Amino acid sequence: MTRLAVLVIAATDSSGGAGLTRDVRVLADFGVDTLCAVTAVTAQSDRRVVDVHHVPPEVVRTQIAAALETRQVGAVKIGMLGNRATVEAVADSLAGLAGGAGSTSSSGGTGLAAPIVLDPVLVSTSGGVLLDAPGRAALLEKLMPLATLVTPNVPEVAALLGEPLAADEPGLIAQCQRLLGFGCRAILLKGGHASGEEAVDWLITAEGSVQRLTSRRVSGSSRGTGCALAAGIAAGLAWGVPLLEACRGGKNYVLEQMLAPPESF
Ligand code: PLP
Repeated sequence: MTRLAVLVIAATDSSGGAGLTRDVRVLADFGVDTLCAVTAVTAQSDRRVVDVHHVPPEVVRTQIAAALETRQVGAVKIGMLGNRATVEAVADSLAGLAGGAGSTSSSGGTGLAAPIVLDPVLVSTSGGVLLDAPGRAALLEKLMPLATLVTPNVPEVAALLGEPLAADEPGLIAQCQRLLGFGCRAILLKGGHASGEEAVDWLITAEGSVQRLTSRRVSGSSRGTGCALAAGIAAGLAWGVPLLEACRGGKNYVLEQMLAPPESF
């Protein structure tokens, strides 16, 4: 039997904490193969982004086309894109897939054969800009309408909308509803509740459902958790798991990773 595959459209991170290498590991943990299109090569340590080399958009296009020619994918995960030209190349490539695939079953009406999980990577934890302002505008306009699920954290929601940080949970949910106006099917808002024992995420769908997902809060920060969560959800969707359960599965996976003691030989 052919193994399931997810197409990851993302950048490399030389520190290994985030980006494509992290995604590959997560997908392997879920028993899923990775096909990839590299959008940028970043030189990063855990403390700073030293350099970013953007892969030319036509090369991003050909990578996506070649990957899709190789195997059918069960889902697409989009991470760091860097700039407007890359966002547009990805949007064009996936919209093209819509024409070719001709299925609406798992994508909720985008015409794509596979669900798309979009992690809106704007800045690194160390503060480096990973998507410029024109790229953010293009992401809203061109990629959001193709996405099954978008996975912003609280500052990303505000930054994408060009609004101040929401003051409370009702304000956050209202911001997510405005973000849904750009055409994605659902938003998983990460860390909607910023303190206390619980970590609270919200799954808000275009159909109007609002679900609160709680888990144990783990103190300290860990790099690449946003990448890992989106990859884990994409893996679940590739396995045919419904969206809410895929989000729960991704969250549980990330929590386990953060709690796991370092392995020894
Ligand atoms: N670098 C790359 C290449 C990424 O794809 C991402 C997140 O997707 C990051 C950095 C951000 O990760 P972190 O917030 O852990 O710095």
